[in-house]
Amino acid sequence: MSRPCVFFDRDGIVNQSPGPGYVERVEDFHLLPPFVDALRLATERGYAAVIVTNQRGVGRGLMTEETLHAIHDKLGKALAKEGLTLLDIFYCTANDNAHPHRKPNPGMLLAAAEKHDLVLAQSWMIGDNEKDVLAGQRAGCRTILVRTDTDSTVADYCVPTMDDLVPLLKTLL
Ligand SMILES: [Mg+2]
Repeated sequence: MSRPCVFFDRDGIVNQSPGPGYVERVEDFHLLPPFVDALRLATERGYAAVIVTNQRGVGRGLMTEETLHAIHDKLGKALAKEGLTLLDIFYCTANDNAHPHRKPNPGMLLAAAEKHDLVLAQSWMIGDNEKDVLAGQRAGCRTILVRTDTDSTVADYCVPTMDDLVPLLKTLL
């Protein structure tokens, strides 16, 4: 059965942003409570939820793919405690900006839609970087940017912080 999806960027949306670097250790992955609320709302309103994340730190040899899996296992367990699940997590470890799955390219969203029969035109992409917005737009989704500096964004909606996301989603989903 085809259905709409909320695509979430990971760092800065699902978990505390590591700044310019990467979350390279399981113990450095800290879930953001407003994401849990956003996931719950999306689920209640009939949306699937998929994380799409660039993880070039793997491609650069700063961390292993096994560590990335361990981090995502920790995330899955934390969400399960809340009674929540993600449909999938797509990540791109490529170092090459031209890789079709590396945001701002839309490959991860397109692959998720193909794999899970998602309706992109009824879906949303939420991220804290313009690359997320562009990937969502190129996939045919509507977009929300969570950022204070929104001067040059092409996002459909902007909120300054994660605390502002759920109130917006209540009006949109
Ligand atoms: Mg981010």
